[in-house]
Amino acid sequence: MSASDIRAEARRVLGICDACGYCNGFCDLFEAARRRSALTDADLAHLANLCHACRNCFQACQYAPPHVFAVNVPRTLARMRHQSYLDHVWPQTFAPLLNHPVATVIGVTLGAILLLFALVLAFAPAGGGLAIETGATAGAFYRVLPWTLMVGLGVLPLGWSALAIGLGWRRYWGLTRPRRATTGEARRRWCAWRTTLADILNLRNLRGGGVGCNDLDARFSPWRRWLHQTLLGGLGLSFAATLAATFYHHGLGLQAPYPLLSPPVLLGTLGGIALMIASLGLGWLEWRTAPEPIASESRRLDQAFLGLLLAVAGSGLALLLWRATPAMASLLVVHLGTVLAFFMLLPYSKFVHAGYRAIALRCESLDPVSID
Ligand code: SF4
Ligand code: SF4
Repeated sequence: MSASDIRAEARRVLGICDACGYCNGFCDLFEAARRRSALTDADLAHLANLCHACRNCFQACQYAPPHVFAVNVPRTLARMRHQSYLDHVWPQTFAPLLNHPVATVIGVTLGAILLLFALVLAFAPAGGGLAIETGATAGAFYRVLPWTLMVGLGVLPLGWSALAIGLGWRRYWGLTRPRRATTGEARRRWCAWRTTLADILNLRNLRGGGVGCNDLDARFSPWRRWLHQTLLGGLGLSFAATLAATFYHHGLGLQAPYPLLSPPVLLGTLGGIALMIASLGLGWLEWRTAPEPIASESRRLDQAFLGLLLAVAGSGLALLLWRATPAMASLLVVHLGTVLAFFMLLPYSKFVHAGYRAIALRCESLDPVSID
């Protein structure tokens, strides 16, 4: 479907919902759409990212296929959401990556692993590299790949990704932000932040009117929301493990790998387990769910991102398990390759949806009247 066809379908479907009104209590979207009768392009981008795809409205809809109206709000808004990612990605040259996420993830991950193997062969110090035998002793990781190279390979792609993600989110905020002046309303702005943060953390819009998502079919379930929260926790724990390891390295002068019961390893292990549970669980739901309310482009984006997360977490845990064996060097290279691919692909993956949804929730809590 072209971008104009996607927008035309979104206007048609939301126009029917406006007249119907049956789903108004399910989530913020229907009330927000009702207040935006013009349904401009900015309105559609905002509304699409306000939908959390709980699919309650599809199961409840008397006008869903096979009815002649063929109302399918979750699929229509998923297509519109995907279009908003394409419209705001930076740089625009990389937009096609979002349309071919599985091939992109596989290609970039394999490329990153091969690059790292080549760098190890070229730069490993004497007695180190892939042939290293004392895998669990202090500094062993840096005898596979020098510390400066390892840090450079993390910082450069992460810096690029932070820039690309920031510019993309800024463009989206520029399009959808509330236009009404709110200067001087400090208290209101503070309350809006609190509401936004609470909505992000408890994923209120994934509760579908309080009964849960239609994860697989007409039955309600909290699993999709719980697994999203597990994923968020896993990313937070992994970030905390990185901070702890940085403190150990620079603050205490201790080199990795660290003891099993040290904070960096404990936080990293818990984070890795949480990420594995979340990516496997969400992947299982994606695989088993009824296809009707799903858009194929967003499903591919989900699957590619979950697969990459699984590779990062699984290779990290494998490295932890077998770090004292001769397999350590190869496992380290594979893990670093998946992390490098993860960092490079952040702006061109499902990861960006977190910011779009946060901005949509922020706009809605800040100024629920008009964005145009
Ligand atoms: S999804 Fe269907 S039932 Fe719900 S408001 Fe729209 S038209 Fe009405
Ligand atoms: S959040 Fe759920 S109920 Fe609301 S529009 Fe999206 S799928 Fe429908």
